[in-house]
Amino acid sequence: MARRKKLYEGKAKILYEGPEPGTLVQYFKDDATAYNAEKKDVIDGKGVLNNRLSEYFMNGLNGIGVPTHFIKRINMREQLIRTVEIIPLEVVVRNIAAGSMSQRLGIAEGTSLPRPIIEFYYKDDALGDPLVTEEHIIAFGWASQQDLDDMVALALRVNDFLSGVMMAVGIKLVDFKIEIGRMWDGDYQRLIVADEISPDSCRLWDVETGQKLDKDVFRRDLGNLADAYTEVARRLGVLPSNVTHAVKPHVIN
Ligand code: UDP
Repeated sequence: MARRKKLYEGKAKILYEGPEPGTLVQYFKDDATAYNAEKKDVIDGKGVLNNRLSEYFMNGLNGIGVPTHFIKRINMREQLIRTVEIIPLEVVVRNIAAGSMSQRLGIAEGTSLPRPIIEFYYKDDALGDPLVTEEHIIAFGWASQQDLDDMVALALRVNDFLSGVMMAVGIKLVDFKIEIGRMWDGDYQRLIVADEISPDSCRLWDVETGQKLDKDVFRRDLGNLADAYTEVARRLGVLPSNVTHAVKPHVIN
């Protein structure tokens, strides 16, 4: 396949020019990073699994009327997506205390929260993606009040959908992060779910054993990350047909 023009390379994905205006190709790498890229490794097969899993979640969301950037999967590592203007905020939804929230507020990991809690982090690697309030967001023009209302509504719909899908396969959705983009239709804009939804950006705990099936396996050195993601994909029935174990992809197309 002729190599497309690279537009952006991030920690886990690369964006290439798409085949038509308004589209991009999103390529999933095997690179894993944590703690603002202080910890790094290459996990064979992670990109293939995340491409499939993100396809699965985004398709499901599109199917229930939650708009996303996802158009179709192209091959093992690439998907066709809509071009959006990414709002520079990470939107985190939490159902159970864990990670930075547990540390910041001294709430034991695993404590159920009385209601889903939404947090916003300003996307800036140099600053370490700081937690920000709606006041900061509006004052600095990162999003309007209307955008914020729409983002909260989108995030809660994603939470309901993902929680249900995961619970059906015996997994608790502890928390997750999404990114949201603006799509322009003339003067009219709408917000859609962008980036990826995968175990890189969620916390997923087995309902029975509490076993972690997400990027904490890498962050905290708890075992083989590809095995954990393979287990999530297996339970959801979205393993690539030619893959039985942690994937060792040789063909990228
Ligand atoms: N998260 C993410 N990217 C980030 C930071 C967090 O995808 O740059 C996800 C993370 O995987 C978890 C949720 O957002 O599912 C909440 O993360 P937290 O704030 O607890 O930060 P962490 O403990 O991961 O540093």
